[in-house]
Amino acid sequence: MSQQYAGYVPLSLSEYEILNVLFSRLLSTKHAPVIIPGEAILGIEAVAAGISAPGRTILNVVTGPYGSLFGTWLERGGATVAEVRVPFDEVVTVKEIHEAIDRFRPVAISFVHAEVVTGGSNPAREILKLARDYDLVTVMDSVSAVGGESLPVDEWTADFVAIGAQKALAGPNGVSAVSVSPRGWEFLESNKNAPRNSILSLLDLKPVKDGAAPLRVPPNIPALEARALTAALLLVEEEGLEQVIKRHELAAASTLEGIKALGIEPWQKNSRHYSTLTTTVRISGDKSLLIDRPIGIVAPGDGELFGQLLRINHFGANACRRSVEEAIKTLAQLLNREPDQAIEAILQVWGEKHEQ
Ligand SMILES: *Cc1c(COP(=O)(O)O)cnc(C)c1O
Repeated sequence: MSQQYAGYVPLSLSEYEILNVLFSRLLSTKHAPVIIPGEAILGIEAVAAGISAPGRTILNVVTGPYGSLFGTWLERGGATVAEVRVPFDEVVTVKEIHEAIDRFRPVAISFVHAEVVTGGSNPAREILKLARDYDLVTVMDSVSAVGGESLPVDEWTADFVAIGAQKALAGPNGVSAVSVSPRGWEFLESNKNAPRNSILSLLDLKPVKDGAAPLRVPPNIPALEARALTAALLLVEEEGLEQVIKRHELAAASTLEGIKALGIEPWQKNSRHYSTLTTTVRISGDKSLLIDRPIGIVAPGDGELFGQLLRINHFGANACRRSVEEAIKTLAQLLNREPDQAIEAILQVWGEKHEQ
């Protein structure tokens, strides 16, 4: 006899509370984050809709496609959008941002912390420090940084931080979060254009009070995704966030050694600012690296970057030696080269002996 379906069980208040606590611990913040009932991109669009208004100048930093998209959402809200844009094989420098702040006098600044699409990681901590000196409200898309780099939200005084679990945290993509500081809430509340009674409304989801337990579960949180997310965040705590980050650092460092041993070049120019989640490889004259579909964790460039780079997606469960080795073997095969030296270089980074 087939088992009877027990029915859909809504998320309980205590399950919701646990998820809040796990997020707060992950981000080292004492302010309850807003749990977003959808993919991280929903939280990011909600931030843009909530802060944008005519009369506000917002400095939007574009180091990849997500930054471009954020700029269009700010424009839709009527803000004056000033832009700092760099080629997608570079990260932004603090100097460029400093000059733009002096020139445009914005009230807020938005940027993507780390980019899986380009393989770059922006100097987030320094940008936030500079923004603090100028009293700017700060917005950071850290979806592809959380779990791969440290992200102490309160210490860095970041006002809006969007995160998701589907990258380094090996979690589901159906629920995400935005951490909002008290100053961030003020910035939303003082905007009469901020959405209300809308799926894009952060104000509708404002937690009751800092430190106080939530009174109810927001009705639109998908329960099954929330449970899967809780499970993923518990696994992160079990492994230890530091160790999860370390694993991503090793994956990135070993991939870099692997591609160097194969004689191919990283796409990103500044070696001090590589993402720990993806390594991007430049496709230059030699077209043997031109693939049109993913092979394991090796993927073609997205959108305008197609044909210019390959991505090696060593994040989440794939932030491990085995996945990196597979990826490097794939590249060696495409290049018609022997992988042995590259594999040896990978083993060295992980500090493991060659298994005979
Ligand atoms: C993956 C990612 C997102 C989220 O996109 P989804 O479509 O929700 O997966 C947002 N910003 C950045 C920088 C990302 O890498």
